[in-house]
This record gives sequence, structure tokens and C-alpha cells, in this order.
Amino acid sequence: MQIHPLIGIGFGPSNIALAIALKERECASPGMQPIFIEKQARFAWHKDMLLEHAHMQVSFLKDLATLRNPTSRFTFINYLHEKGRLQDFINLKTFFPSRHEFNDYLAWAASKFEDRCIYGQEVIEVLPEERNGRVEWLRVRSRDAQGSVHERLGQNLVMSIGGTPSIPEQFKHLRADARVLHSSSYLRSIAGHPKALRIAVVGAGQSAAEIFMDLHGRYATAEIDLIMRARSIRPSDDSPFVNEIFNADFVDHVYSRPQDERGALLREFWHTNYACPDLELIESIFKVFYEQKVRGDTRHRFLRRHEVQDARATSDGIHLGLQDLNSGIRHGVRYDVVVLATGYGREHHKTLLAPLAPYLGDFSVSRDYQVRTTPECKPAIFLQGACEDSHGLSDTLLSVTSVRTGEIGDALLATQEEKSRVARMEQLALQA
Ligand SMILES: Cc1cc2nc3c(=O)[nH]c(=O)nc-3n(C[C@H](O)[C@H](O)[C@H](O)COP(=O)(O)OP(=O)(O)OC[C@H]3O[C@@H](n4cnc5c(N)ncnc54)[C@H](O)[C@@H]3O)c2cc1C
Repeated sequence: MQIHPLIGIGFGPSNIALAIALKERECASPGMQPIFIEKQARFAWHKDMLLEHAHMQVSFLKDLATLRNPTSRFTFINYLHEKGRLQDFINLKTFFPSRHEFNDYLAWAASKFEDRCIYGQEVIEVLPEERNGRVEWLRVRSRDAQGSVHERLGQNLVMSIGGTPSIPEQFKHLRADARVLHSSSYLRSIAGHPKALRIAVVGAGQSAAEIFMDLHGRYATAEIDLIMRARSIRPSDDSPFVNEIFNADFVDHVYSRPQDERGALLREFWHTNYACPDLELIESIFKVFYEQKVRGDTRHRFLRRHEVQDARATSDGIHLGLQDLNSGIRHGVRYDVVVLATGYGREHHKTLLAPLAPYLGDFSVSRDYQVRTTPECKPAIFLQGACEDSHGLSDTLLSVTSVRTGEIGDALLATQEEKSRVARMEQLALQA
């Protein structure tokens, strides 16, 4: 079986950026030809949230390459140039392209690595491949759409698998019910409910706000309840001094702080990334409710300070037990569809790496995103997008992606050099 110098799990923006960073240092690391395994049949960036009017929440300059290498041919500007839209884009006068356009940019970049990515296979586990009491390689097991299992051996691993839908406890028993859907599958799932009349959207973030507006436009007569615990919808703070927490060098600062200080930093700036839709979007929602008041209409409701206490499925719909947190009063409401815009968890790498448990500690990572292992584990394992606790709020976003992949590239190169040095020493010792 072929042994790959590097296997990447997932081929979203993080690993595409890594493919670019490694390609651009090919002369420094000629042996570091990676392969990537992606569960989707072809590249797509959060395809079920590519809503009509959605746009980027970070500047296009935080693309796959610019901050690491502004002269790269993989920048968003070069993409526009190749597509013949650079001047038109300049005339748009925006830093925030539509998500449709950014998806097209990412797909364009991904297409340059067709020979490096195996699409349509989901990695199901990573096992240690032991030789003489040491983990020499990693055996990466994946499953294709037909159910066949494939295995590949890698010297190093980079896991960039994004988040997994976070389903609140009250809804876990309804996971198989098509009337309860998570925002991650929104477009695909809502298409199955062309006649929904009563819909609940649970959540207070960008996705909840976008979905509320999409449903408002999609159904001429449906009644939509926007349900959240918060007292109001707060906008994201992207003012310049606050935005500095998303600068690449802020990662050094966060990483160097003691754990309790890091926790305090995350709490202080939590609202720059979570439960904070764009101001423009909040204003659109406010306008919808205002126009209802003008018409004396109560089609949609903003159920702020409301908590979903339980959820029950019957043949006529999903019944939510709601508690008004101000009055303490409880009431039940029946819905045809419930949309959970309740975010993502970032723990799945632990499940995939579980067979390596004897060689891993608490999944803590070094500054260069490498999981700490025992000395018996030779392969280096890197995490992208699962290091918010140690590296800060930018970790799950695009903000530092290009710089981070440069750092991982350096670390991989150093690892390879160290392995070659040790191999040479062992060879010399054998000859002596
Ligand atoms: C709707 C939405 C909009 C967003 N907009 C912005 C934005 O404007 N700006 C910003 O900075 N951030 C945004 N984000 C945050 C988002 O996390 C990043 O933009 C970016 O997608 C992170 O890239 P990634 O490659 O780390 O993760 P992902 O984009 O999630 O990619 C992970 C990839 O791994 C694949 N995968 C997962 N598990 C496996 C497995 N077991 N085997 C094989 N493949 C697997 C997935 O199919 C996916 O393609 C948004 C997130 C969402 C959900």
C-alpha cells in the first residue's frame, strides 16, 4: 500500500488553503505531496445556506492566500481577473462579496487540485499503524456512498472537518423527523415542505436571521415565529479596534495567555462571532415587524426571552412547549416545521481519532496546531478549526486561514527534516 506523506481530512477552505500553501513551497518540500479526502461528492461551501442575498462577513482580502502571500495566483483578486470581473467588482465598491461568489471562488481554487482530492468518501476513523511498539503511520479509513470502505496510510495528518450540527437536548429524539431541520441542511430540507403554514426558527445568530428573512420571502402566507432566549438581536461588532482580535498576530497573544485569561478573552469577545447578525439584516427583520404593525397584521412573531422547554411530534405537527422567561408563563404551540439555527459543535475529531487514544492526551495543541502525542507516535497530527479555546475566536473563521496554513506548512517541513535526521542517525548506528 502506498504511504502518503500527508493526508488531509475534509476539503473545505482550510485544507484548500493548505494545498495552496504547500504547492507554493514545493521547492522547499518536494516530498510533501498531500492527498485530501472529502465526504461531499464535489466541492461546495455550506451549500444549504447559500441563500439569495447572503454575503460574506469578512473582507475578501481574508481569502485563501492574500495574508500569507499577496503575490499568490490563488487570491480572490486573481480569481476575479481570470473570470473577467475585476473591474466590475471594483465598481461594486465592497469588501464583502456574496456568498455565492465566494463559493465560486473557493470552487475555482479547489478545481486546481482535482488530482489531489478524493471526493465522495467520509473518513470514519483513524487507526495507529504500529511497528516495533511505535506508531509509524496512520491508517485512515473512509466510506464511499455505496458503503465500501477504503484505507490509506499517511505519515502525517491534517484534520479540517469543520463543525457538526449542534442539536439542543429538547430536539435530540426528533433527529429523524423531517419536520425538524438544522440550518446546515436548510435549503435541501425546506424544499420538502412547500406547503408549511406555521414555522418556528430557533436561534439568535446570523443563520437564524437569514433563515427568517428567507422564509418570509419564500412563503406568502406562512406564520413564522423567531424564538430566542435573548432580550434582543444584537449586531456583530466589526469596528476596527475590536476587529483586531481577528488579526493573525493576535493568535500569538491568545495562545501565550494562561488558560483562565484565554477563557476571559473568549467570553469578552464572544459576541463578535456568535449570536450577532449583520446590522443590515437586523434592520430588515425590524422592518418586516414594523410593516406588520402598520397593517395591523400579526403573521410573524418575535418571541424574544422565550425558551423551548420540550418538543413533541404528532401526526399534525411539532408541538413546542415554550416558556416566556419574563413572565414565567408556559404555553404550547404547534408548528409544521421547526428550523434549528443552533450552531455547530467542534468535537468530532476526537471521535475519529479515538483509536489513537493511548498515544494522545487531552487533545491540546501546540502553537503550530499540532496535537500533543506521546513520543511513541511518529506521525504529526494537525487540527484546523478546532482550536478556538487555545488560539482564539478567529480559529473557526476564514480570518487567519491563509496564515495558519503557512504555519502548518513550516511545521510539516520541520517534522520531515527531523524524521530524516533520525532515520540517518539510526542507519549510521546500524552500520557502526
Ligand atoms: C452558513 C455559514 C456562513 C459562514 N460565513 C462565513 C464568513 O462569511 N466568514 C467567515 O470567516 N466564516 C464564515 N463561516 C465560518 C466557516 O467555518 C468558515 O468560513 C470555513 O467554512 C471554515 O473552513 P473549514 O475548511 O475549516 O471548514 P468547512 O468549511 O466546514 O469544511 C470542512 C469540510 O470537511 C468535510 N468533512 C467533514 N467531515 C468529514 C469526514 N469525516 N470525512 C471527509 N470529509 C469531511 C466537509 O464536507 C467540508 O467540506 C460561515 C459558516 C457557515 C456555516
